[in-house]
Amino acid sequence: MTNKVFGGLWVCGLLFLASCAYQGVNQYPLSAAYPRYEALLGSLNELSREYPGVFQHRIIGFSGTENLPIYAVELGKGERNILIIGQHHADEMLGVAISLHLVEELSRAYLKDAKVKALLDEYRLWIVPSINPEGWRVVSSGLSRIKRKNNRDTDGNKKFDLRTDGVDLNRNYPIFWDLDGETNHMSSFYKGPAPASEQEVKAIIALGRRISFELAIFYHSSLTGALSERIFLPAVTEESPEFMQLRKLAEEYAKQSPRDYHRGTYRVQTGTSSRVGNARNFFWHALKVPAMLIEVGGVNRQGQSIIHPGEKMVKRISKRHTKALLSLLEYNSGS
Ligand SMILES: [Zn+2]
Repeated sequence: MTNKVFGGLWVCGLLFLASCAYQGVNQYPLSAAYPRYEALLGSLNELSREYPGVFQHRIIGFSGTENLPIYAVELGKGERNILIIGQHHADEMLGVAISLHLVEELSRAYLKDAKVKALLDEYRLWIVPSINPEGWRVVSSGLSRIKRKNNRDTDGNKKFDLRTDGVDLNRNYPIFWDLDGETNHMSSFYKGPAPASEQEVKAIIALGRRISFELAIFYHSSLTGALSERIFLPAVTEESPEFMQLRKLAEEYAKQSPRDYHRGTYRVQTGTSSRVGNARNFFWHALKVPAMLIEVGGVNRQGQSIIHPGEKMVKRISKRHTKALLSLLEYNSGS
């Protein structure tokens, strides 16, 4: 009888653990599945030794307060340039994991998989794992689970105030900046003292002006879950043929991206999009580059937003988005 009771408890325990793993919980401090800024250069050096000639990596700028290098990986040999930025907001770590997975997985596949090789001979992916290394370090060091901005000393008190300092890098691009009312420097959405005031944003603007991109993709994760598993397009007043083409690309990506905790796939947001100084507005309006924002991370069965899932889910998400990106490239391929 006692054995039966214990046996029953074991089964209940296992079922409970299995349901947690499936339904999703946030785990903080972050698991080892999330890349650390301090290890980024070492990982890229190691991968480029393992897969010589597939990609190059370089510094494209430095963060404004701590002078940390911002890295870009140039992967593939084609003429068609695609920009992928894994992170603007510090606590949105899934895009960094996806970026590093893309570099590793596509480098490996380039040497083994004829289809991937053909795509990477046609395209050139510019993968920037993060433009916010200061915020990335704060979140991955275990100092704070929630943080959006960089580390600019916005109140000028000569010290770093974890909860209030910083500029929202995705409100600082020089487009629609005047229309944005986020002037309170303590707000998580603070747009900064001037358009493109932040070094991190300047680095991306310079890259965007130097390279002729045909598409830009920005990964984010929705902290509240309200935006989860959706793709957002730039703010436009009318849908031009070029915009309809962008929507088709986004729909293709969405179709290939299953939701993590519910049935169905991602969807492309319709209706109005924010007229603020974000990256997708800047690329679309100022550089004439089609651009989309992908909100990764889901809402679990209890309605809780999951932005820091455990190791297994990080791997699953990274794989799924690598696959979706390849499908998008294939869909858009000229060959
Ligand atoms: Zn974000």
